[in-house]
This record gives sequence, structure tokens and C-alpha cells, in this order.
Amino acid sequence: MKSQVDKFNLILQSVAKSGRQWDEVVPLMLLADESFESLHMESPFFGDMLWQGNIEPLREQFVLTGSWTMSAPRQCGRCNIEFAAEMRGNIDITYALGKQADGEEQAELELAGDEPEVLEAPGALNVLDVLREHFWLMWQPMVVCSEDCKGLCLQCGVDLNAGACDCHASVKENPFAALKGFKFDA
Ligand SMILES: [Zn+2]
Ligand SMILES: [Zn+2]
Repeated sequence: MKSQVDKFNLILQSVAKSGRQWDEVVPLMLLADESFESLHMESPFFGDMLWQGNIEPLREQFVLTGSWTMSAPRQCGRCNIEFAAEMRGNIDITYALGKQADGEEQAELELAGDEPEVLEAPGALNVLDVLREHFWLMWQPMVVCSEDCKGLCLQCGVDLNAGACDCHASVKENPFAALKGFKFDA
């Protein structure tokens, strides 16, 4: 596992002019972060993260760009089935070397959005940390197996994707059925 981690660790100052490229499978366990949600890693719906990206020096700065894809097991918020949710993200971050900004300045930088992220020279960067952070940023608390998912019947719990249940029919029919046998004669 150590060699896997090392692949993602770099020192910006020693990144060659030609930059550095990745076309890597990121092991799932390296993405886990219990402070968000636990990943059910034993699930067959998990697919490893594939990360394709590069970092290039550009006018005193370093630009990290790339994209990642993976599938993660999620539970549908409507019908409760577990399904493989496709996740993807694009990364585009500019780093600059400098003295670490103090707390207040750092907050301003983050608000500015497209300002480079300042790393203290020589610029130790762990791309795995970047990917993990981005992965959890893209993690939606509520997902559905399909936009058309009909969910479960609130009354009997039947999965309405599999077919209609009797509740809806009886809700409509019952009042009439009851009225049929009812005498209105005063
Ligand atoms: Zn569903
Ligand atoms: Zn029902």
C-alpha cells in the first residue's frame, strides 16, 4: 500500500517542466473518511476510482487538472434498493508556492474561488487527499436509483416499480363501493 500512496505524493518544486501524469486506479480504502459516512466496501456495487489527471507548472504556479469516475453502492431514497451510483468529478486547482497564508488571508483566498491555493515551499502535495476531499464533496446525501423511480407505497410498503398495489385502487373504489349498498332514503 505504501507504494500506492507514494504515487500520489509530490513536491511541487521538483515537478519537472513536462509535469506529471496519472492514469491510476485509486484503492477504495484510501478514499474512506469516517467523518462523512462509512463506505460499504464489501458491496459488489463498488467500482474502484479511476483517476486520470496531470499537474503542470505554469508561470510560477502549478495546475492540477483531471477527472475521476467510480461507482459506489447507494441506497435509493425512494425504493430503498441498493444500486451502483455512477460518480464522477473534474478537478481543476491551481497551486502557488509561498509562505502559508495566516488564517484570515486563507479564508479570503478560499472565498475568492479562482485564486491559487498557497502551499508553503517546497510545496508538499498529496493528490490522494485532494481526490478524497473531492469525492466527498460530490457525495450526495440523497440519491435515487432512477429519476423515474416510483418508490414504495406509503401504506403497504410495496415497491411500486414492481407493480401497483391494492391500496391506490381501494382508495378510489372504496367510497363508491360503500355507497352502492347504502340507501339514501331518508
Ligand atoms: Zn428507487
Ligand atoms: Zn400499497
